[in-house]
Amino acid sequence: MENVVIIGSGCAGLTAAIYAARANLKPLVLEGHEPGGQLSLTTHVENFPGFPDGIMGPELIENMRKQAARFGAEFKSGAVTEVDLTARPFHVTAGGHTYATKALIVAAGASARLLGLKGEKELIGRGLSTCATCDGYFFRGKPIAVVGGGDSAMEEANFLSRYASKVYLVHRRDEFRASKIMIDRAKANPKVEFVTPYTVEEIFSPQGLVSGLKLRHVETRQTRDIELDGVFVAIGHDPNSTIFKGKLDMDANGYLVARHGSISTIPGVFIAGDVQDHRYRQAVTAAGSGCMAAIDAEKFLEEHNHAQAHS
Ligand code: NAP
Repeated sequence: MENVVIIGSGCAGLTAAIYAARANLKPLVLEGHEPGGQLSLTTHVENFPGFPDGIMGPELIENMRKQAARFGAEFKSGAVTEVDLTARPFHVTAGGHTYATKALIVAAGASARLLGLKGEKELIGRGLSTCATCDGYFFRGKPIAVVGGGDSAMEEANFLSRYASKVYLVHRRDEFRASKIMIDRAKANPKVEFVTPYTVEEIFSPQGLVSGLKLRHVETRQTRDIELDGVFVAIGHDPNSTIFKGKLDMDANGYLVARHGSISTIPGVFIAGDVQDHRYRQAVTAAGSGCMAAIDAEKFLEEHNHAQAHS
């Protein structure tokens, strides 16, 4: 029987693991299908406090993992395939093994949607990004594109225009999902050029770095090539919440709903990180919410007189 199982090994899950381990709860971290989460897919992280010269995303994650292990957190690989939250102890199945636990922290994260183009994933950190706040700074004075037509795309186009010499906003329709105010702001920005209705057919990367896009006009089917140094894919995120459908409260977009910090509708189940946050989505906010979930779980176990250090 585990005291606390943590689903997810990104910033939120690992911070929860550090706190729970230091509280002598010997948490078990189920690492999921993308160990290390989104940070493991980024390059330089320059806005995580405490690293004045920045740190590589994978290194930051590895440091957190070591820190959690040092205090006694345990790790198991494999994606979680089933959760039973109907009664305590809860049951969580991952990698073919079912774990019983007194408390559960869900920090399963979110995954940025990609366009589904050949070689796209390999270009992450090599000119392709899904996070303007993380990577915009690397494109000072360079032309870039933002793909998408929602609020994120508009917001990122405006944000990135602070750095980039030019921002092409590429969207597959002439209408936008974004709110009028966000569209107006982007349209009023002299550095932003709307390129619609175009789909991205190919990302050029002859040297392994993004160098341009091949676009196709949706109606005329004509192609257009654009030279640039960066592509920001802003076509939405999907919270990794499918296995909690019908078990935990979620909003219309599948984000889990946490109340009063990390507390879910089920006593003993706590929620942290991007699986419940479509607004901030930062490493530091995910870490903060992981800390909250661990403190909430510790309090819960204390109140229920449950916590026992494993031998
Ligand atoms: P979103 O609203 O779902 O928009 C996604 C956009 O990407 C849509 O324009 C969609 O095109 C496009 N898209 C999706 N899949 C695509 C594909 N395979 N190829 C090309 N284009 C594709 O996502 P979001 O912009 O990330 O926003 C998510 C939520 O956060 C929204 O509720 C939004 O209002 C909110 N948000 C708010 C703010 C703010 O208020 N400051 C900022 C950011 C986000 P179609 O329209 O053609 O489907």
